[in-house]
Amino acid sequence: MECVRCGSGWAVRSHVVGALCGRCREEAPRCGGEADAARWLRATTIPLPGSYWVFRGEEEFAAQHGRPPLDWVRTTAVDEGAVRARYAGLLRTALAEVAARLGEGALIPSTIAVLIAGVERELAVRHRVLLSEDSALSADARFRRSLT
Ligand SMILES: [Zn+2]
Repeated sequence: MECVRCGSGWAVRSHVVGALCGRCREEAPRCGGEADAARWLRATTIPLPGSYWVFRGEEEFAAQHGRPPLDWVRTTAVDEGAVRARYAGLLRTALAEVAARLGEGALIPSTIAVLIAGVERELAVRHRVLLSEDSALSADARFRRSLT
């Protein structure tokens, strides 16, 4: 059964909104009523199966690195479409390998962000792009920036 939120095929009917996978059950509201649960589902569902957790991993990557994955592609002479297609393929393979090794539930945003970083490094090396060191991007630095 597919998860009504992320499209994962590992879902069980266990929530007021319908079948959820383990990761989505962990994030589902545990208080409030059906309307609150329905609002959460509408606001956080990505209607492309298999995309939800990659999107969350990319958000996590951006939080850790201070930039979205592959932002360097636009400033180089490489074919952006080809690099993005290669990125998607390499990431899909990495996600499948880790899910097979650690289990579907291991693919949480922080894990996916690490895989994205690895795929990005591989592509940067392939295209002879030197990725800059991440600047001060700790949670503390981000918090201080949010106050200004
Ligand atoms: Zn799910």
